[in-house]
Amino acid sequence: MVKQVIKEHLIDCSEPEKFVYNLVCPECGKLWQSTPVPFSKAGQAPKTESKKVIYYLLYEREKQRAFTRAVEEAVHCFNLCPVCERLVCNDCFLICQDIDICRRCAEQLQETGEQVSSAGWAAPAGAGREP
Ligand SMILES: [Zn+2]
Ligand SMILES: [Zn+2]
Repeated sequence: MVKQVIKEHLIDCSEPEKFVYNLVCPECGKLWQSTPVPFSKAGQAPKTESKKVIYYLLYEREKQRAFTRAVEEAVHCFNLCPVCERLVCNDCFLICQDIDICRRCAEQLQETGEQVSSAGWAAPAGAGREP
C-alpha cells in the first residue's frame, strides 16, 4: 500500500552515469534522495551499434532495479497518513494512541503522539540494501 504510493511519487533524477530518485515531503518540504546507484557501464562508450543496444537494455534494467531499491529505502523514511492520504516523512508523522497520522491531521483532530523519528534520515543499518 505505502509502496504503491511511493512508486507514484518518486521523482526520477537519474543521470546517464547513475540512478537516483527523489521524494519530497508535502508537510515540511524536505527533499529525500535515494542512495545513488552507479550504472555498471558508466563512463564506457559502446564501441559498436549492437553494444549500444545492449548498453541501453542494461541501463533500463538497472534503472528498474534501482527504482525498486529506492522504494524499499523510502519505506523507512516516509509514511502514508490515513486521514489526508499524503506521504509524509518520519519527522511529520506521529504515532498516536489510536491511530498513526501526520502532524497536521493530529493538530486538527487534537491527537497527540510521538514522532516516528527525530533522528533524521538515517535508515536502519542494511535496510533496503542487498547483502
Ligand atoms: Zn516532513
Ligand atoms: Zn494527514
